[in-house]
Amino acid sequence: MSEKPTIGFLGMGHMGLPMAINLHRAGYQLKGFDVVPAAVKAAQEAGIQTVASGAEAAVDVDIVLTMFPSGQHVLDAYDQYLLKSAKPNTLFLECSTIDVAQARQAAELAVAAGHRSADAPVSGGVVGAEAGTLTFMLGAQAEDLAEITEVLESMGKRIVHCGGYGAGQAAKVCNNMLLGISMIGAAEAFVLGERLGLEHQALYDVISSASGQCWAVTTNCPVPGPVPTSPANRDYQPGFAAALMAKDLGLASSALAHTDTDAQLGSLASALYRKFSDEGNAGTDFSGIINAIRDGSL
Ligand code: NAD
Repeated sequence: MSEKPTIGFLGMGHMGLPMAINLHRAGYQLKGFDVVPAAVKAAQEAGIQTVASGAEAAVDVDIVLTMFPSGQHVLDAYDQYLLKSAKPNTLFLECSTIDVAQARQAAELAVAAGHRSADAPVSGGVVGAEAGTLTFMLGAQAEDLAEITEVLESMGKRIVHCGGYGAGQAAKVCNNMLLGISMIGAAEAFVLGERLGLEHQALYDVISSASGQCWAVTTNCPVPGPVPTSPANRDYQPGFAAALMAKDLGLASSALAHTDTDAQLGSLASALYRKFSDEGNAGTDFSGIINAIRDGSL
């Protein structure tokens, strides 16, 4: 069996740290780095080798994996130190959720600097990151697939190759735009049902087996009761925070503008989640938007 690739792992936050821990447990040698000292300390406590700078994390490794808050963080780090610190032909594996155009730009920069590139954003949240059950949406060249898949399998259970550079981010943005729209739709249906005198369970029993069936109802049901594990049963503790939904819908809006796509519901969902998040609900599960719909404050 060939030796495992070495990995520079940058961005060990809520998602990155458990992902790094799973790679470490699977026997990968990491050079971990985060700009926040507490994150570095947490990684060290988990047995992960850390280095003193982002540039150092990229030196003499086979893969540079980034898990950053935004596309600008990725482009800045690539441009300022990562691409020039890495040895030729390093694989830049970008796992953050970022703008599709910025993902393509990051790939172009990496390739122009003599490296390889792939985007592999995730879904599954912190719970999935900890359990190693993330889904990866992969934008990569066919010749890199085997190498990438082997690494991602230590952190996730499903890897979907969506196409070339940026295709992973494109798939993520389309999925999350649909999720934002469908959660608002589910919430509106339950509020309307309440006002028409329907019990939540009765409406759930119909929707979950009828044509309105969707993940927003059957897994993340916005009312307490019918799905005991949904955040509605724990006062809307996330789960998937409204701030993250607002971020992802902002990326969807950017993609809609770039592609001149008339998607009125996607644009409206983006505006509604931005307002909901900004008005004191950033840390609330995104299904909590039902409360703003019910009280008419959106
Ligand atoms: P986070 O803010 O907890 O972690 C990001 C980490 O990157 C932070 O620790 C930050 O200090 C670090 N960082 C920023 N710039 C850096 C640099 N130049 N060098 C090294 N470290 C740097 O965010 P998160 O929740 O872990 O999310 C990470 C990414 O994953 C985001 O793009 C997010 O949209 C995406 N995502 C998050 C979730 C979720 O449920 N949290 C789910 C799916 C996808």
